[in-house]
Amino acid sequence: MSNANATANAGLSTPIVRFAPSPNGLLHVGHARSALLNWQFAHANGGKFLLRLEDIDLTRARPEFETAIFEDLAWLGLEWPRPVRRQSRHFSDYETALSELRKLDLIYPAFLSRTEAAERVRKAEAGGRIWPRDPDGAPHYPGDDRTLTAAQRTKRISDGEPHAWRLDMKATLSGLAGSMCWDELGAGPNGETGKITATPAEWGDVILARRDIPTSYHLAVTIDDSIQGVTDVIRGEDLFAATSVHRLLQQLLGLPVPRYRHHGLVLDTGGRKLSKSEDATSIASWREQGATPADIIAMARLDSEA
Ligand code: GLU
Repeated sequence: MSNANATANAGLSTPIVRFAPSPNGLLHVGHARSALLNWQFAHANGGKFLLRLEDIDLTRARPEFETAIFEDLAWLGLEWPRPVRRQSRHFSDYETALSELRKLDLIYPAFLSRTEAAERVRKAEAGGRIWPRDPDGAPHYPGDDRTLTAAQRTKRISDGEPHAWRLDMKATLSGLAGSMCWDELGAGPNGETGKITATPAEWGDVILARRDIPTSYHLAVTIDDSIQGVTDVIRGEDLFAATSVHRLLQQLLGLPVPRYRHHGLVLDTGGRKLSKSEDATSIASWREQGATPADIIAMARLDSEA
């Protein structure tokens, strides 16, 4: 296990940032804030701004949303090198990382479907147990597949049983000495800033490859940030907790550790996070109503993050 060889990206010459939307909906003002904060940072520091399409969910990603992302960002005045990295074209990079973790015996095939897992948790809770939840509110994986023997796993896989791949969190953490930190230049939802100690245990046996997709958000984002040499990850505070998982993966795979800057979210008038599925708050619909790029930049309230 590569424990001590994670190197800090901080201090490298050219800062590299990325805006990494999923093309499964229209961008809203919250996305504009993220994209613009990345853009401003790149400009202020003589750095490079990348656009990356996080399109691993092939059932939800759609070409018209990709086109809309390009149009909205160009309309806002942003530029980026092309071609952009599309995660769906790089499944083999994630598979390489998975096989490394498989060799270290840190991941296991998890056979419970989403419905079966939910049913187990429901039963346990009905029986009075308090089931642990991850920071996004999802229950920890209730299966005990991690205890299957290698022969049992191989048989079930070769019998064609659908399975995801999960990290054996307990085994992983017990093999790591000391704590893992990252430099937070922004703040988490509770004002966490400065040197942050990663707390990946709260995620349980986090999913690294879904049943239907040979990777997961956590794995793909960590590998891509490393492959693209990203030095500064600037993104919404809703991903602050996920950074603990990314930091752990960097540790296990010997990847550099970028600096992180989580920013506040743009909320709707009811105080809720904007949602991609609500077209009414999209940049495209503001444009149709006659808004200018300056209007969107004002709505993105970049000054509140300065
Ligand atoms: N693709 C993620 C999203 O659209 C962002 C990932 C990241 O910035 O780390 O929410």
